[in-house]
Amino acid sequence: MSETLRQRLLEEMQGLKTVDCHSHTMLRRDYEQLPERSLFTMWSYFDRELGAMTGKGAGELFAGIPDEERWARLRPLLGRARNVSYWRHHVVVYRELFGLEGGELSDANWAQVNDSIRERTAQPGWYDHVTEELCGLQTQVRNVPWFEDWEPEYFTCTLRMEEALEQTNRPNRERLEQHLNVEIGDLASLRAALADLIEGYRWEGSVGIKLAHAYRRTLHSEPVPEADAAALFARAVAGEELTWPERKAVEDHIIFFLAECCAEMNQVFQIHTGVQGNWGWVPDSDPLHLLPLLHAFKQVKFDLFHAGYPYSRELGMLAKHAPNVWLNMAWMYVVTMEGSRQALKEWIDLVPGDRLLGFGSDVGWPEFIYGHLIMARSCLADVLAEKVERDFLSEEGAVGLVHQMLRENAIALYGLRDQGVAG
Ligand SMILES: [Zn+2]
Repeated sequence: MSETLRQRLLEEMQGLKTVDCHSHTMLRRDYEQLPERSLFTMWSYFDRELGAMTGKGAGELFAGIPDEERWARLRPLLGRARNVSYWRHHVVVYRELFGLEGGELSDANWAQVNDSIRERTAQPGWYDHVTEELCGLQTQVRNVPWFEDWEPEYFTCTLRMEEALEQTNRPNRERLEQHLNVEIGDLASLRAALADLIEGYRWEGSVGIKLAHAYRRTLHSEPVPEADAAALFARAVAGEELTWPERKAVEDHIIFFLAECCAEMNQVFQIHTGVQGNWGWVPDSDPLHLLPLLHAFKQVKFDLFHAGYPYSRELGMLAKHAPNVWLNMAWMYVVTMEGSRQALKEWIDLVPGDRLLGFGSDVGWPEFIYGHLIMARSCLADVLAEKVERDFLSEEGAVGLVHQMLRENAIALYGLRDQGVAG
């Protein structure tokens, strides 16, 4: 592969104000109030690997013991699992931000990295330094939970909507009633309440909604007539326990209703596909299950996440034939760099470049955005340089894709203001 071309592409990316197309980054006010920022509290997805190995998350494993003991617990777990991308993401962060030398944490260097994390993250302006100066982010399209706010100087909101599907559950319904100061006694009033909620957030600047229902049920949904869903919902409101097929029918109806809201209010519909947590039922997350919804709402812009991994090839063909689908690489480079390269190699052959979203951090700590971005740029440079060399993509076309995938497509899709390039 041509190193000069790869290098040129990397420099092009470093000079761009990137739009982070999917974020869970903690708000600055929350970050600054954290009781501890250290090697043993700053986790990303490797926390899930710790859970898979020990049955305990990092919070439990490292609580209330001295740092030396914490390291003694972590070291053998790294011996078992340090190969996975979720850990290598950590290594990139320690190397780039906290002075780790060499490729791994060890007895000789962990304490120095830990000290460096504590010192640097306590410096005034560190949060802005990471998100703005190092990452060069224009904005992060942030997954905002129900009834919460966000910091518009860093984030653009999309409203997370799983709770909308869980309104047969009384406590959930009461939360919504209280927030909007309405009564939800039937399906019509539920639909009105959901529309009001979305409209309220849209009024504050929200650009879309997000569903991650694939974590607990199939992505497959089909149209359910309002009268059928209303009869089922009435039974739930009366206190009856619905069976799963009955609840699914209500949920499916709401999913289609949410798409209607997106059409009316010009909101992007983001949906989690692929990649699960521990014990997740992978086939439920196959994006092909979404076909009935995508075809029913051709005017809605669907932003499908995580490369649908491992169904990335299917997702590529889906997007090729469904012009209302955008492909979002959120989370992917830290799941697997090789899977990311493969997906991108095929998609760039298949799908018009203006519907590819090249980066979504999908992490809680701002430091991990930077690590993820470095991994993303590296994969993109690999893929594009190879496309120029072997697959008849022009160099100009490759540079154009960099701008589209890391910035321009997001600005167009989410209706953001164009704020120039990084200095
Ligand atoms: Zn996410």
